Amino acid sequence: MSTTGRKRKGATPPEDSGVPSKKPRAAKSAKGKKGTQPDAPVWPEYFNSALNTVLAFCSSRKNFAITFPVVRASVEAMLHEPLELAKVAELKALLPEIVKFAYTPRIELRIHSDHQPGSSRRERSPDYSAFRTASASSSLVNDEDEDEHVLVLDFIDNSRGKKPGDTGLAYALPPALTPAATKKLVERRNNRFVQAVNELLKATPESEDPVTLLQSAAREHIPVHPGLKDSAPGASQADVKVKYRQIPEPEHRPSIEEVIADVEQQDWYQEQIQYRRIFEARQGQLATLEPPLSDTISQALRDSRKITSLYTHQVSAINALARHKHVIVSTSTASGKSVIYQVPFLQFLEADPDSTAIFVYPTKALAQDQRAALEQLLYSCPGLNHVKVSTYDGDTPQELRAGIRDTSSVIFTNFDMLHASILPHEDQWRRFLKNLKLVAIDELHYYSGIFGSHVARVMRRLRRVCAAVGNRRARFVSCSATISKPRQHMQNISGIEESKIEAVTEDGAPAGRKDFLVWNPPLKDPMDHSLGRLHSMTEATRLMRFLMARGVRVILFCKIRKSCELAMKTLRQELSADGRHDILERVMSYRGGYSQEDRRRIEREAFSGNLLGIVATNALELGVDIGVLDAVIMLGFPIGGLASFRQQTGRAGRRARDALSILVADALPVDQHYVNHPEELFDRATDELMIDLESKIILEAHLQCAAHEMPITAEDEVYFGGSMVEICEAKLTKDKEGWYHTHPRYLPYPSKHVSIRGAEEEKYSVVDVTRIGKPGGTAHILEEIELSRALFEIYEGAVFIHQGLTFLVQEVSHDSKMAKLVRSDVNWITEPRDFTNVDAIQTTRIREIKGSPHRAFYGRIELFTLVYGYFKLRNKAIIDAVDLDTPAWQRETTGLWLDVPKPVLQMMYDHGINPAEAIHAACHAFLNRFALAADLRTECKVPEKEYKASASQRKRPARLIFYEPSGKTGGVAVKAFDHVNDILRDAHDRVESCDCDEGCTACVVSSSCKEGNVVSSKVGALIVLKALLGQPIDVDLLEEGLEENQAIYDTVVEATSVRLAEGVEVERSM
Ligand SMILES: [Zn+2]
Ligand SMILES: [Zn+2]
Repeated sequence: MSTTGRKRKGATPPEDSGVPSKKPRAAKSAKGKKGTQPDAPVWPEYFNSALNTVLAFCSSRKNFAITFPVVRASVEAMLHEPLELAKVAELKALLPEIVKFAYTPRIELRIHSDHQPGSSRRERSPDYSAFRTASASSSLVNDEDEDEHVLVLDFIDNSRGKKPGDTGLAYALPPALTPAATKKLVERRNNRFVQAVNELLKATPESEDPVTLLQSAAREHIPVHPGLKDSAPGASQADVKVKYRQIPEPEHRPSIEEVIADVEQQDWYQEQIQYRRIFEARQGQLATLEPPLSDTISQALRDSRKITSLYTHQVSAINALARHKHVIVSTSTASGKSVIYQVPFLQFLEADPDSTAIFVYPTKALAQDQRAALEQLLYSCPGLNHVKVSTYDGDTPQELRAGIRDTSSVIFTNFDMLHASILPHEDQWRRFLKNLKLVAIDELHYYSGIFGSHVARVMRRLRRVCAAVGNRRARFVSCSATISKPRQHMQNISGIEESKIEAVTEDGAPAGRKDFLVWNPPLKDPMDHSLGRLHSMTEATRLMRFLMARGVRVILFCKIRKSCELAMKTLRQELSADGRHDILERVMSYRGGYSQEDRRRIEREAFSGNLLGIVATNALELGVDIGVLDAVIMLGFPIGGLASFRQQTGRAGRRARDALSILVADALPVDQHYVNHPEELFDRATDELMIDLESKIILEAHLQCAAHEMPITAEDEVYFGGSMVEICEAKLTKDKEGWYHTHPRYLPYPSKHVSIRGAEEEKYSVVDVTRIGKPGGTAHILEEIELSRALFEIYEGAVFIHQGLTFLVQEVSHDSKMAKLVRSDVNWITEPRDFTNVDAIQTTRIREIKGSPHRAFYGRIELFTLVYGYFKLRNKAIIDAVDLDTPAWQRETTGLWLDVPKPVLQMMYDHGINPAEAIHAACHAFLNRFALAADLRTECKVPEKEYKASASQRKRPARLIFYEPSGKTGGVAVKAFDHVNDILRDAHDRVESCDCDEGCTACVVSSSCKEGNVVSSKVGALIVLKALLGQPIDVDLLEEGLEENQAIYDTVVEATSVRLAEGVEVERSM
C-alpha cells in the first residue's frame, strides 16, 4: 500500500491567537488576475458614500435576529432616504461571512412557544382528555403558520461566546452591549468592510468597474421569498448551481480527486484541509483452493454472487479450515469475509447432509442481512437448495422454535440466545449440536470488555456441551475488523489454544483509491481571530450538501444521538433554504432509539440507492449492509477511539470505486490532538481488546449455568481454568460422587440470573400527540428511550428532535413512563441543567498503597442525578433559563475511590492550581491505564460549573472516584481495586514521561470523557498522582501548574471519611 502524506499544519494560525492571518482571502480570488496593486487602492466614491453609510446604520443595531422592515424603518428615519434591498445585498456580497440576509420562517424568531409548559406557566394537564381539548385549540396547532417567512438582516458576530467558548460547551447570555461596546462592534465591522472593499478592488481587472461587478454579484444575494422561489427565473442562479441542479447518477459522479479540487475552489474554502493522505488503489490478489471447489459450489458462487475466483485471504482461511484448524480473519471492511464461512459450510453439507452450523452476529440486523445472502447462495446450489436456514433470536415466536431445532441446518443467532435459550436446553438441541460442524462468529472485535468476558464463558460452555454429546470436530471461524492481536483475541474468546488457530491478516481484496482529509473549521472571520472558529457541525453539513449535490453518497457519523439529530435539523434547514428539496428527500438520520421498523426501512432505502445521505451515530458502525457509500464524514473524533475511527472510515468505498473520508475536527482536546498528529490516525496501533478471564464474579455466574447444562467435574478445568474448583467448592453444591451442581438459589433457570449485556433498562415511550383532536388523528410512538437518557431528554418544555424535526415535550409521566410531544417548529434547542453526584456511602474494603501513607477504598456508591431546569439555546447563546421540578434519580452501585490528602489540596489552592482540573485529569490518567476502563465511569467535571463566574454552591470532595454503571455486573471495580497500585504507578509514569504539552490521549485525555476533557490539567494530575503514591512534590512542578489570572473557586473541598462496614481490615499490597 503506497501512501503519500502532505501536511498542512500551520497553514492557518491557531485559534484565537490574535496573530493576523498571513494570507488574506483576497489572495485566492485575485489569483491569475493581473495588476496586483500596492495596498490601499483608491476607492471609487460609491463605496465611501452609499455603502459605508448603510453599513454604519445597519450594523449599529444591537438586537440579534432582527427583521429587515424594522431595520429599514430606523435606518430610513436617520438616513432620510429609502433603504434599498439591493444595497443590503451588496453588503452581503462583500461580507458573506458576517452578514445574514435571508427569509426565515417567522416561527424561528420566537423565543417562547404558546404551548410550552415551562414558559407559559400554564397548569399541567395530567388528564389526557383535558389535554385533548387544549391541543385542539388553534394556539397549539401551528401547521397554518408554517409557511410564513420574514426577511431577516443580522450580523453573525453579534452573539459571542466567552472563553472557553471554543469548546462549544460554554454558553453566553445575549450580549447587553454598553455604548462603548457597540462603538467597538461598529468599528470592527467597518474595518472588515474596508478590507473587503480593498480586496475587491485588487481583484478587479483594469478593464472592469468594481461597482458594476459588485452590483451584479449582489443580484445573487437579493433574498427571494420561499413562496416565490420555485417560480422565480433561474437567471440569478450561479453556473455552478445550474450545473449540479441535476444530481448525477452514481456512475456519473465526478471522481473524488475532482471533488476535492472543486472544494478548494469554493469561496467558503479557507485552507480547512490540514492534512491529506491518499491510499492508492490496490489490485485484488487471487489464489486457488486446494483441493478445488466442487462444480456445484463453484456454480452457486458464480450464479448468485458472480464470484469466479477467490482472493488470497479467503483461500488461506478456507484451506486452513480444511486442515482442521480454527480460523480468525482480520481484514478491512468489505473484503468478502462471509464467503470464508459460507463456502466451508456448503462443503460440509455436500459431504454430510446432516451437517449443522451456527452463525453468530452481534445485532439482529446483521444476522438478517447475512441470512438472505446465504439463502441465495444455497438456492443456486444444485442439491442444497432444500437446506433450511433459520433466524433464532429473541423475536423468534415460541411456536416456531421447536421446528427450527428439529429441522434447520443452520441458525443465525447471537450470544444472548446461546446463553439463555440454546445451551440451557441442550437436550432439545442434541441433534443440532451432535452434527455441528461450524461455528462462525462475525465481527469478533465487537466482543470485548465485560460483555466480551461473558461471551468468552458462553463459548466455553458451548464447546463443553458439544464435547459431551460426542462432537469434538466442530470448527470455529471468526471474522473481525483489523485488530492488533487477532489470534490472541480469538483464543481469549473461544478458549481454543493459539496453536490450533490460524490468523489470516493479509488482505487480498481489491480496493479503490481513497482520499483521507483532516478538516479544521476556519476562523469565523479571518481578520478577527477573537470570533473563534466556525462550528464543526456547520462545516460538516456544508461538506455533506456539497458532496450530495454532486451525486456522492455520504454518511455523516455523529458522536451522540443529539448531535445526529441536530445535524439532520441543520441539513433540513439549509437544503430547504437552498431550494434543494430534491436532495432533502434523499437524506435520513439513523440512530439508536428509532423503532425496529423505522431502522429497517432506512436501511432498505439506503441499500436500494435511494438515499444520498445518512446522518448516523455509531449504530451504523457495524457492517449492516447499506450499499455502496462514496464518502464518510466524521463530525468529531469518535468516542470509541481509534478502533471506531477506522471502522467508520472503512464504511466508504468498495472494490473498483474511489472514496473519500473526512474527519471534521471539533475544538475539543482529543480532536485537536489528531489535527496536530494526523499520522497517528493510521499508524498508531489500536488498543488491544480486553477480555477478563480472571473475574471470579463472571466465572461463578457461568459455572452456575454450566452446572445446570450438565454437572461439573474436575476435568472441566480445561474449559474454565484453574480457579474453577475453588469457586465450585465455595459456591456450587457438591454431590456424593463429587459432581458439582447449580446452587439452589439459581434454580430453576440459572441463565435468568446472569445478564451478559447488563440489565435491561426501563424505557420511556415518547408519544407524538400532535394529531390528537384532529380528524382521523391518533397518537403514535416516536421512540422508546432508556431511563438513563429519558431524564436528560424528555422533561416538560424540552425540544426533542426526531429525523431533524422538532417536537416540544408537553407532559411527562414518571408513573406511566410516558412523554407526550407535539410537533412544533422552533429554532432553539434545550439543554438540561443538571448534576450527578457520585458519593461513596460505605467502605467495604481498604487497600494499602505501597510506599504511601494513603489508602484506596472500595465499597457502595450512590448516584444522585437531578435535572433542575433547562436552557433554551440558539446558536449556542442562552435565550432563556427555565426551572423545573422533576424527581431526582437515585441508584446504587459499587466502585473504588482515592482521597486527595488535605495538605495537597491546600497546596494546589495556594499555588493557583485548579483542583477540579487536577482531579479530573488524574481520573482519566488512571482510566487510560486500566484495560477494562470501558466498563467503568468517573465523575467528569463540568466546565459550566467549574468556570462559572461566581462561586458554586455544590462542593465536591477532593476524591478520585470510579464506579460501575448501575446494572452492569462483572466486577470491573473489584479488578481496578485489586490492581490499584499498578494502575496508579503506571498512570503516574505515563503522565510524567509524556512529552505532550497540555495532555494528550496517551496521558490525561480520554476520548470518552462526557465533558470533553475541558476541565483538565496535566501538571495537576501529576501532582495528585504523586501525592497518592506518597512521592514528594517539587516546587518547580507547582510553579509549572500556575495559571495566571485565572480565578479558581473552591468547588472542591476536603474529602471526609466514609462509613465503614464492620470488620474491614486494610489489605496489604504485594
Ligand atoms: Zn500526553
Ligand atoms: Zn471526563
